[in-house]
Amino acid sequence: MDCIFCKIIKGEIPSHKIYGDEHTFAFLDINPISNGHTLVIPKHHHENLLTASEEDTALVAKTVKKIANAVKKTFNADGVNILQANGTAAGQSVFHYHVHVVPRMENDGLHLWPPTKRIGHEAAQMAKAINKNL
Ligand code: AMP
Ligand code: ZN
Repeated sequence: MDCIFCKIIKGEIPSHKIYGDEHTFAFLDINPISNGHTLVIPKHHHENLLTASEEDTALVAKTVKKIANAVKKTFNADGVNILQANGTAAGQSVFHYHVHVVPRMENDGLHLWPPTKRIGHEAAQMAKAINKNL
């Protein structure tokens, strides 16, 4: 399969590895949005969170927590964002499930959170509709 992240796991493409265990792998993002921006991936190929197994989702989450604490300590960061894209509409560009761990500094000028809109009376209906699809 022609997947760059599978190739990174196999060592066929170089990466700056931070951590690896039986099921997960973490390495520096090649185009970081802050110092220490890391990607955490499962070793099994899944397109994204929506199709990943529950087991790999949980194992990735565990590694994300480990990496988030490590980058915060390393860069003396004030905070950490955990970001993750599913589908091209959501900005996904590599189709091997991955989670971004992004160290943040107070007043670093990054605007990762767009402005919100006020939710109206339709909220209760939306909550019910989503619940039906669980
Ligand atoms: P996304 O837009 O969420 O799919 O993120 C894909 C991320 O993978 C981007 O932030 C890229 O900079 C990163 N990326 C792509 N190729 C490589 C690579 N060879 N090594 C490290 N990071 C990569
Ligand atoms: Zn892959």
